[in-house]
Amino acid sequence: MNMDRKEILGEVGRVVVKVGTSSITMGGDTVSSEFMDSVAEQVRKLRDGGKEVLIVTSGAIGIGLKAMNAKPKPKEIPVRQAAASVGQSILMQKWNDSFQKQGIVVAQILITLNDYSDRETILNLNNTIDSLLSYNVVPIFNENDAICVKEIGPMFGDNDTLSAVIASRADADLLVILSDVDGLYTKNPSLHEDAAFIPTVTELTPEILEMAGDTMSSTGTGGMRTKLKAAAICKDAGCRMIIALSTEKDVLLRAATGEDIGTVFVSDTHISKKKRWMKAAHSMGTVVIDDGAMKALTEHRSLLPVGVKEVTGQFSKGDVIDIVCKGEIVAKATPNYSSEEISRIRGMHSDRIRDVLGKCPYNDVALSENIALM
Ligand code: GLU
Repeated sequence: MNMDRKEILGEVGRVVVKVGTSSITMGGDTVSSEFMDSVAEQVRKLRDGGKEVLIVTSGAIGIGLKAMNAKPKPKEIPVRQAAASVGQSILMQKWNDSFQKQGIVVAQILITLNDYSDRETILNLNNTIDSLLSYNVVPIFNENDAICVKEIGPMFGDNDTLSAVIASRADADLLVILSDVDGLYTKNPSLHEDAAFIPTVTELTPEILEMAGDTMSSTGTGGMRTKLKAAAICKDAGCRMIIALSTEKDVLLRAATGEDIGTVFVSDTHISKKKRWMKAAHSMGTVVIDDGAMKALTEHRSLLPVGVKEVTGQFSKGDVIDIVCKGEIVAKATPNYSSEEISRIRGMHSDRIRDVLGKCPYNDVALSENIALM
């Protein structure tokens, strides 16, 4: 289906641009200043047209490995982390050079999933973003790969996901993913001649998710699968998303101004910012619920202790947790009680909370506004 692009995009005020490793290196193994200059120039033009722009950049690890003369895609964690620290500073130096030519100041923000999952930290990040934009600075984000290790702790793991999370956090109207693919196809176009291009995606149906296959770019972390995950995060935020080929002339300008380029993901839903945060945050524990509680959740009612069967992990009131029913994560929530307290009141009617805990600030384990269904 092809819909009018301008109509889909509506009024675009705030844009997040994700630039992948393969785009920054133009498929080679050195940084392409020409490409970065072109992105900076297009960002300047978007800003001249009244739009606010934030960037999520990849490339730190790849650039660092090259600078250190290390072998590509190393398995050793310390080598990857060393490469990230070397590469991140080179990357920012390059962005700084490109944006300086446009008279634009940039800021570096490195984020981890642990930081993101902390409520205070993330609220504070919003103030930082607002303040930077009010000073006309372009914030440039990356995951803090120098201190994050997927083998050890929680990570975003790929910048498609990170860019969608930032777009959601910043209430962006549009996320543009500049990539080495020009959009979504019915099959992997490099393997199948009869693959058909899909200009517009209105629903993330199982068929669409199936189309992602396992396409991976040779240098970056993401593939089509992570891009569709990003589309789901954007959809929750009422943010449109476009995947487009980074080497197309003026791709960013054209995408953000409603020209038919790449694949656009339509978004008509919008859930609260707090629930969006919960869905993307790292969970500190799990509460297993029974069928009755599950029914209550789907009817947008709160979770009562009587419906809780089991508690695992150690969490405090207000931490993000998984709500599990029949072995599946059905929701994320921020509970009113700690793991230790919920363990003591699980399976009980709420009128017993005071007897057991010596206090009863809430009848519910989690209020419906603090439960985000998956
Ligand atoms: N954060 C990684 C880097 O800058 C890139 C992750 C990705 O390719 O999605 O090297």
